[in-house]
Amino acid sequence: MSRRDLRNRQQETEKLSEENRQIALTDALSGLPNRRKLLARLDRLEDAIGDQIDTRAVVFIDLDGFKQINDAHGHHAGDTLICSLSERLRALCEGRATLARVGGDEFAVLIEASGATALALALAQTINDEICLPVLVDRHVLQVGASIGIASNADGALRAHELLRRADTAMYHVKTSGKGDIAVYDVAFDLGRMWRLTIENEIGLGLSQGEFEVAYQPVVDATSGAIVAAEALVRWPRRPGGALDPDQFIEIAERTGQIHPLGLFVLERACRDILPLIDVKLSVNVSPVQFSDPKLVRQVAHVLEQTRFPAARLQLEITEGYLLAHPEGAIRAIRSFKAMGMSVALDDFGTGFTSIHYLQSYGFSHIKIDKSLLAGLHQGSKASLLITGAIYLANGLDMRVIAEGVETAEQAELLRAAGCHKLQGFLFGRPMPIKAFVLAFRDPTGWPRREPHRRLAAH
Ligand code: C2E
Ligand code: CA
Ligand code: CA
Repeated sequence: MSRRDLRNRQQETEKLSEENRQIALTDALSGLPNRRKLLARLDRLEDAIGDQIDTRAVVFIDLDGFKQINDAHGHHAGDTLICSLSERLRALCEGRATLARVGGDEFAVLIEASGATALALALAQTINDEICLPVLVDRHVLQVGASIGIASNADGALRAHELLRRADTAMYHVKTSGKGDIAVYDVAFDLGRMWRLTIENEIGLGLSQGEFEVAYQPVVDATSGAIVAAEALVRWPRRPGGALDPDQFIEIAERTGQIHPLGLFVLERACRDILPLIDVKLSVNVSPVQFSDPKLVRQVAHVLEQTRFPAARLQLEITEGYLLAHPEGAIRAIRSFKAMGMSVALDDFGTGFTSIHYLQSYGFSHIKIDKSLLAGLHQGSKASLLITGAIYLANGLDMRVIAEGVETAEQAELLRAAGCHKLQGFLFGRPMPIKAFVLAFRDPTGWPRREPHRRLAAH
């Protein structure tokens, strides 16, 4: 009796520990295998001998826009979305591949078959299409996208863990170069990732060691040609590895959050530099990342207080990205800035989808026509019709229009005739150090004040 008893107990314990093992290897929310299980499976593959070329591939999937859904609709909505997606992806992978949920909004698919790369690409495309379908959750239509990376052993034997790492790297490459796409791993991606990490460290050092500077580009009155404002643009002249374009490092600083101190540095420096030029207004770029930080309003107020820069002379420039993602937050922030006496301009108008009418309801006082729209601008061109229409509409809605990227006298003339208020571009001056800006402002003869469309400013 007691022996049978013991055996039963042992069987029970084994069953329990097997259940525990299953729980430890399963993702509680979706019921899919979790990261640990995927790694265990990869471990077993690693031990397999006789590795043949192009027999296994990993597809790494990271959702785009999932965090925003969690923020806007709560975690319940996020969880429901993950469950629905998991179910649909499971159906797609059934019998073809092993699907695992490896992170909050990350999935990985392991394919073990010959011709793995091609299979992975086809599956990734199907998965991408599926993920993009809208889902109804709590009466909200929610939609996410996906950035997908693929790695395979097509070029030779690979350790299984290296496969996963490479698929992750390829996914990261997609994430940082526009999202919503599929990429197969390339060695260059690793270099790119390393480069970004280096820059990230350098930005931190550069901030603490005063390597950044601010340049000022004149904004002129379209009719008189007089300088009426300066746009502050960050520069990194003292970077030990050589100067770098803001387009390259701003995006990295946004991703790491370093844009917060960097943006405040630019604002404070610019307020101090421009303060003595009492007739000149100041325009400062605010990244969408800064704009979504509730502390920004207070921080800007603090800088104005410290520098005694009048709020009425300050304009903030923001791009469309943030508006579309967080309309309520954007309206709130714009209202606060306006209440403090500042104005807010929409930067890069014409690169997104926003209609002009919609912009007015946000409280923008200015729109800045993007330089890409000016490229084809000459008499009778389609671009000129479009821009003329936009200026007309904006004026009708009480918004002023600034055109940036004005390079030729013909463009300036067209814009002026169309009713554009202010012009900015190489024709009137490149971004320059504060000393040069002060000289340009103070010396009207050295400056194309009277004939803004005839004279090219010194570069
Ligand atoms: P943006 O705000 O659209 O700034 C205008 C960019 O156009 C500047 O490039 C300027 O040098 C360039 N530009 C001005 N006139 C002309 C022209 O006639 N022709 C051409 N081809 N280009 C012209 P920059 O200084 O390289 O800055 C690039 C972008 O980096 C800016 O675009 C802005 O998005 C970002 N950025 C620069 N400084 C800051 C900053 O302090 N904070 C934030 N958040 N972003 C900044
Ligand atoms: Ca700008
Ligand atoms: Ca712009």
